[in-house]
Amino acid sequence: MSLAENLKKIQQGIRAACDRCDREPNSVTLLAVTKGQPPEMVRAASDLGLMLFGENKAQEAKAKIPLCPGRLRWHFIGHLQSNKCRDAVELFEMVQSVDSLPLARELSKRAEQAARALPVLLEVNVAGEGSKFGYPPDRLLAELKAIGALPRIEIHGLMAVPPWSAEPEKSRPHFRRLRELKLECERILGVPLPHLSMGMSGDFEVAIEEGATMVRIGTALFGPRSRAKSRAAGD
Ligand SMILES: *Cc1c(COP(=O)(O)O)cnc(C)c1O
Repeated sequence: MSLAENLKKIQQGIRAACDRCDREPNSVTLLAVTKGQPPEMVRAASDLGLMLFGENKAQEAKAKIPLCPGRLRWHFIGHLQSNKCRDAVELFEMVQSVDSLPLARELSKRAEQAARALPVLLEVNVAGEGSKFGYPPDRLLAELKAIGALPRIEIHGLMAVPPWSAEPEKSRPHFRRLRELKLECERILGVPLPHLSMGMSGDFEVAIEEGATMVRIGTALFGPRSRAKSRAAGD
C-alpha cells in the first residue's frame, strides 16, 4: 500500500476509535515516527499534510532533520543521554522521554542556554519491565514536583510504551494505568496536563479509547523498517 493509503487508513482508525468513545477526532494528534526512514520519506509525508514527526536517536535526527522541510515539528521519543541534551534542545519542539531528575536538570540547563522553554512528557515504565527505560510510577510521583520546579522545563503530560503484544487489548490496562497516573500527577502539581502520548501502529485505537491525545505511528504509516535500519534506530 502507498503512504497516502496507509495514512487514510490510520485516519479512519482514529475517527472510528473517537466515535466509539465520544471524542472529537481533532483531540488526537498523529505523530509520524520516522526512525529508520530517509528524509525523502519525511518529505512525502509532509506533502500529505503531516506536520509532526518523531525520532528516537539524537544522532540520526541531527543528520536527518536539516535535510527535511523547515516548517516541520519534531518530538524526541527515545532514550536520551545527557551528552545529547544540547542537540535535543536545538532540534526538538518537545522531549517525550524524560525519565530522571538529572536528565530533566540537564535539559533545563541546555534550554536556558538556548533561551527557550522546553515542553516535556515524562516517560513511564507502566508494566515495570526490567529491560525498559521510563519512570517506575512511584519514583515518578516522588520526583514530579522537583521536575516541575525546574526553570525551563514545562511538563505537558505522560508517555508510555507498553510491552509489545500482537493483541491490542493486552495494552489496554497499561494505557488505563497511564491515564490514572496523569490524574495523580495533576493533583500533585495542581495544574491540568494536556497530553497522554500512547498507542503505536498495533494498538493506537485502544489507546485512543483510553484517552490518548497523541499516537506515535511508524510501521503502519511507512511500512516495516529493515532489520539493519531498526538496529541502527535502536529497537
Ligand atoms: C518506534 C516507536 C514508535 C512507533 O512504533 P510502530 O510500531 O512502528 O508504530 C512509537 N513510539 C516509540 C517510543 C518508538 O520508539
